[in-house]
Formats: sequence, C-alpha cells, structure tokens
Amino acid sequence: MFTRDESDAALARLLPKGVIPGVVADADFDMTSSDYYFNSYAHFGIHEEMLKDEVRTKSYMRAIMDNPHLFEGKTVMDVGSGTGVLSIFAAKAGAKKVYAIECSKIVDQARNIIAANGFADVIEVIESKVEEVDLDVKVDVIISEWMGYFLFFESMLDSVLFARDKWLKPDGLMFPDKCTLYLCAIEDAQYKSEKIDFWDNVYGLNMSCIKNVALTEPLVDTVDPEQVITTVEAVFPVNMATIKVEELSFAVPFRIRAARADYLHALVAFFDVEFSHCLKKVAFSTGPNVRSTHWKQTVLYIDRALPMEQGEVLEGILACRPNKKNHRDLDIAVEYKFEGKHVNAERLLRYRLR
Ligand code: SAH
Repeated sequence: MFTRDESDAALARLLPKGVIPGVVADADFDMTSSDYYFNSYAHFGIHEEMLKDEVRTKSYMRAIMDNPHLFEGKTVMDVGSGTGVLSIFAAKAGAKKVYAIECSKIVDQARNIIAANGFADVIEVIESKVEEVDLDVKVDVIISEWMGYFLFFESMLDSVLFARDKWLKPDGLMFPDKCTLYLCAIEDAQYKSEKIDFWDNVYGLNMSCIKNVALTEPLVDTVDPEQVITTVEAVFPVNMATIKVEELSFAVPFRIRAARADYLHALVAFFDVEFSHCLKKVAFSTGPNVRSTHWKQTVLYIDRALPMEQGEVLEGILACRPNKKNHRDLDIAVEYKFEGKHVNAERLLRYRLR
C-alpha cells in the first residue's frame, strides 16, 4: 500500500482533475446522475435482480439471522432499505427497533411488505435520503447493501459512512464491515476483438475513433476462471468501521504474476465482502472462481495484447475516484509497466465506469 501522500500524488498524476481524454463529453448529461440513480431504484425490477442474487441475499440473511446475540433488543439502522428485506431479517433476529431509510419510491412497497409480514411495530420506514434524516438516536448496528460494480460504483458508501458518523454508537457494529478490492488479468482475445477491434474495420470502413472510446469503458461481465492467467492480488482493503470518505479516492500499487504463458488483454477487478462480527465467518466473493453474482466482474481492456511468460510480472498503479461532475460515476486509471522476454511496455490508461 501507499502512504496517504504517495496515494494523493499518484492520484493527481493518473487522474488529474478536469476532462479525461477519450471519454465522451459530460454535456450528454442533462438530468443529474443522482436523478437517474434514485429513479432506477423505484421500479421493482432492480430489487428483483438483487433479491434473486442468492449469494448476496443469503449472506446477509445468515449474517443477521444466525447471529441473534448481536441483534436481540438492539436498535438498528438499514441504510437504503429498498424492499425492506434486510430490516425484516434484523427484526426477525430480535431487534427492538429498526429504522429503514429509503429515498426511492420502492419505499411504498417496503411499507406494505413490512406490514404484510407483521413487523410494522418494530420497523419504522423513513422516506428520505439518509443525509436528510432528522433522527435524534444512536444505533447499535448499521446494516446496508451499498456495494456497486468495481465495489465503489454509485458511491453509496459515502451515505453509509455519513450514517455511521452521525448515528452509530462508539461500540456499534457495521454489517458488513470488511471489503477488499482485487485485481487479476485475463486472456480475452475473442471478446476483445468483438468489442474493441471490431471498430478498426466495419464493412471496410475505418471507425477506429470509436475504438478509443470503447477502450475507456470498463465492461461488467462474468469472466471464465479459465481465462485468468495471473495471480490475484488484494489491492484495496476497506474497513467500514474506520474508513473516511476522502479515502475512497485512492491510488494503490499492484504486482501480478503470470501463472502461465499467455497473452494478457485485460485487467479484471472484483471484490469480496465480510461480516466479521458473526460468530461463524460469513463472507462472499464476487470473483470469477465462485458462483457469480449480479455484480459480475469489471473488465478493463488494455491498449494491446501483452505476451507474458509464466512468472513474469506486470506492475503498476490503480487509481480510482468518483467523477467530479457525476458523482455516481467512477474515474479509474491504470498505469502499468511490463518488462518481459518478448516486449517491454509502459502505459497510462483511463476509464470511466457509468
Ligand atoms: N437493502 C435492499 C436494497 C439495496 S439497494 C436490499 O438489500 O435488497 C440500495 C438502496 O439504497 C436503493 O433502494 C437506493 O434507492 C437506496 N439508497 C441509495 N442511496 C441512498 C441514500 N443516500 N439515502 C437513502 N436511500 C438510499
């Protein structure tokens, strides 16, 4: 890891403030990303997708309902309660009072769901952005499902940290409380050619200007574990109990080693999530090696195919920060350096996840 100063210096170099080259102009956005964001959660479809993600939902269910000793008689806040599912788990685990905070219109359904399941006396639904809630209490536990693609997409963690600093008791618990962002690399010749190189020759026409834009867009998709050609490195650990909002703009060094001789076409990021206060460990991963989740993995294509021999190392810096204009979007940069048997390469690449 870098020191904070090293991280800030690398961040300023990799993601300087201002327009990011290769990325479509911000003028495309009339409605703010925040409007889009909250509207998208009003429809049940997005909640259906999350609820049907069993890896996600069952992990929360086990973390909460298998640990009634952490919930019995306690006051709980559910930040972004959606359908109310996590609030109901907490009530079932014995919570005395649950504040379910939700700012999108799904909140009307949450009220129905909570009443239909007999928890209206325990769960108080508050229709508001958590930042605007007026509540003079302290809570024992904050539960929230805030994670986005590349862990930080949508920047909802900011809201959870706001709630933590305002309402969580000093000895209170965050559920979940630990996350880690990982990086590895893949061979992906076929898909890269379909998505990126496609623009080089479209019915005989050169459309390669689009190729440069396409390269800046991370692809959210499931990666076949067979495609992973390097070691997997934990690059950014998040301790939810202590991390500060400003630390969510960061740069970290990475070093990944080829596990076999192959071509490297893209870096892949994913994360895991842990509820470390549980009596028995509850955690889940969104990596390529395990059952896939709705977060899939995030693929960052690099500008070329790098031939790597087994044991050779790709090193570099990964930087990430919320986009200045559209706070829900993420600006990501990768600076890599490779000295191999077949090629030497050094490059700074920038991406925008939106
Ligand atoms: N807890 C539910 C929903 C998770 S999705 C579940 O696990 O199924 C995240 C939810 O948080 C969305 O419904 C979104 O509208 C809400 N949300 C995001 N930011 C918020 C904020 N600042 N204040 C209140 N709700 C927020």
